[in-house]
Amino acid sequence: MKKYSSLAEIKGELATKQLTLDELLAYYFDQIEKHQHLNAFNEVFFDSARKQAEVVQSKLNNGTAGKLAGMVIGIKDNICYQDHVVTASSKMLENFVAPYSSTVVKRLLAEDAIIIGRLNCDEFAMGGSNETSYFGTVKNAADEERVAGGSSGGSAVAVQADMCLAALGTDTGGSVRQPAAFCGNIGFKPTYGRISRYGVIAYASSFDQVGTLTSSVADAALLLEVLAGADENDSTVSSIQVPSYTKALAATAGKKKIAVLKETIHSEVLDQETKSAILKAIEKFKADGHEVVEVSFDLLDYLVPTYYILTTAEASSNLSRYDGVHYGYRNTEAQSLNQLYKSSRAEGFGEEVKRRIMLGTFVLSAGYYDAYYQKAQKVRKLIRDKVVALLQENDVLISPVAPTPAFKIGENVQDPLVMYMADIYTVLASLAGIPAVALPLGNNQQGLPLSIQLMAKHFDEETLFSLSHSFLEKA
Ligand code: GLN
Repeated sequence: MKKYSSLAEIKGELATKQLTLDELLAYYFDQIEKHQHLNAFNEVFFDSARKQAEVVQSKLNNGTAGKLAGMVIGIKDNICYQDHVVTASSKMLENFVAPYSSTVVKRLLAEDAIIIGRLNCDEFAMGGSNETSYFGTVKNAADEERVAGGSSGGSAVAVQADMCLAALGTDTGGSVRQPAAFCGNIGFKPTYGRISRYGVIAYASSFDQVGTLTSSVADAALLLEVLAGADENDSTVSSIQVPSYTKALAATAGKKKIAVLKETIHSEVLDQETKSAILKAIEKFKADGHEVVEVSFDLLDYLVPTYYILTTAEASSNLSRYDGVHYGYRNTEAQSLNQLYKSSRAEGFGEEVKRRIMLGTFVLSAGYYDAYYQKAQKVRKLIRDKVVALLQENDVLISPVAPTPAFKIGENVQDPLVMYMADIYTVLASLAGIPAVALPLGNNQQGLPLSIQLMAKHFDEETLFSLSHSFLEKA
């Protein structure tokens, strides 16, 4: 069977009966088996996927199928699906069974998607290379000695190696966009508050968003249309009306004003081939009739420190629920309650998660709160104001997704600072809460995917979709 790159293609073949859902699912199961060594899946949901395929096939036969009929999708292993294990790739939750489904899972199923399995990620989504997973590193299908990116590394590789049509990830500081960039797919993070996080394991709640990894912009738009919108179980979701994102694709993008963040492109840390690919993309935007200007963003040096102070603070609070009593892993030899807490956490969490909990506890502690946490909140406000001001003058901002293409497994993992600094271009949209997308720009000379990032105003996903669609269409 060939690789399908959009749901529309699959729907076409299902409609003419060239293809059945059974065959489609068997194809993806086969692909998963062939690519097992990449370690993208923590578990394949053979039974529930087959059952769902049967239900959807009969709906297709009688013409009552939903918008996502024919979509076989993987979910990051930090998204709850009732009666299925969900681990956040941590020993802490190794055997934890989700007692209810997240809103995103419910919405996928309500539109007849088939959920094929749960995908590997960095432990509790903390990382940028998928090397902190308790279940091992995910390998990049473009070069198996290289990382998939993270934290949604399994999601990116599953789409890259055609083990499912699309995947959900979560993006706190780049975890959808950066692995998508490393694996050559489209990584979309919506505006903060666009999609419900009910039933999504929390990392840093003022940043966390669910996002999509797909091979086409059309699928990203369709998925957002299904997933977005108010949810009575999550008060942080905006009640702003959900537009028809798929219609936005059909409409012509119109002439847009695009601003290139010049410090991000003319930077010593940026890989040369990435830079030339982005400059070429900029020329293409100009040739397509858009106005492209360069603007200055002078707060670049503050992005990573601000992000890591705030996210570790929030993580230390969110992860305090894993105490060996309420959820998951419990040390069975402890003689006292305090000892039970200590040993369960010491044994249940990996190194990176512990580092972040400790950093977060430190920046929140009496005596340091003002100097770190509160200061970082103020800097976040400055960053957000600056971004909003730039987006008043311009429709879209452009930057790289990451300073380099996928790096070698083991290359950065020993030095957390190097790893954190690599998030410099993705955390901007996360700090400001704006939507952003990573788009593929072909491969470098070694065959590694290159990528560009587009960002837009709060709740202006439509511009990102229409611009991305026409950009890739004309590639
Ligand atoms: N690499 C970033 C971090 O480690 C982003 C993670 C994410 O978006 N979940 O925090």
